[in-house]
Amino acid sequence: MSQPTAGKLTPEPRHETSAETIQRLRSRVAELESLTQALEQESREKSLYLASMSHEMKAPLNAINGFAELLADTSYGTLDPEQQRFVSRIAEAGQHLLGLINDVVEIARIDAGRLEVAPQPVRINRAIEQVALISRGLARDYDVSLRFDPDPADPLVLADDRRLKQVLFNLISNAAKYSHAGSVVRVQAGAENGHVRVSITDQGVGIRPEDRDRIFEPFERTDAAMRMADGAGLGLPLSRRLVELQGGEMGVDSKPGEGSTFWFTLPVARETDTPAQDALQVAQSSPAQYAD
Ligand code: ADP
Repeated sequence: MSQPTAGKLTPEPRHETSAETIQRLRSRVAELESLTQALEQESREKSLYLASMSHEMKAPLNAINGFAELLADTSYGTLDPEQQRFVSRIAEAGQHLLGLINDVVEIARIDAGRLEVAPQPVRINRAIEQVALISRGLARDYDVSLRFDPDPADPLVLADDRRLKQVLFNLISNAAKYSHAGSVVRVQAGAENGHVRVSITDQGVGIRPEDRDRIFEPFERTDAAMRMADGAGLGLPLSRRLVELQGGEMGVDSKPGEGSTFWFTLPVARETDTPAQDALQVAQSSPAQYAD
């Protein structure tokens, strides 16, 4: 009788049972979950370190800015014109650096889970009107007209008033900064599906599809924008984080060369919520149009 060959004797590999597959997948998921937690913890610690370091840089910077102001003040002795020019350059650079540090601190604090917002019912029309007012000078500098189409329903949003205005100011400034002279920036607001959507539309340089995600990351700027104006690439990442912290979303639609619409949403405040003092006054004032 012929012997079976060695190959024929090799046992068939045993197939994993469904219960074993489920067990294996469960332990893999658990491994990935603990890895994700470790990475998140590491990222929070890095953000906290960055926030503390940036915060520490503010004290000497405030001293530089303060002493530059004192030097510029003639009651401490006069400076010749060239010295005045140098001192005002120190003051300008100091203020610029302080702005950058403040943005970095805020982004890092949000990422570390250390920035709190205080949402309350706010009349969206009023918030936009106030920001439009303070943005008029800036729009004029860029020769851009600013228009606001208020929602006749004047919805109440649940938002941190100061943070909402910070986001609005950033988006309106960007719209003016990256627009062509003589063009229009339009701000619109309206309630839909339980949230209020605010959009800022410009007729400016626009953003290519491949750049639309990365501009929400810190220090990312487009080539087209860099040719038009100075910037650090911190305003959008901070604005998006602030909106998300308040329960909303932010995005952009754009046609390169024709313009962009930056939009964000915020939850509608419930009818039973008491409007903030500022918002109560708003209800009595009529919406206005802003055009330079
Ligand atoms: P900064 O304006 O200081 O560069 P931001 O974070 O506010 O920083 O914006 C990041 C980048 O997104 C800008 O550098 C620019 O490339 C692009 N961007 C923002 N707003 C607009 C806009 N309205 N039109 C075209 N590009 C824009």
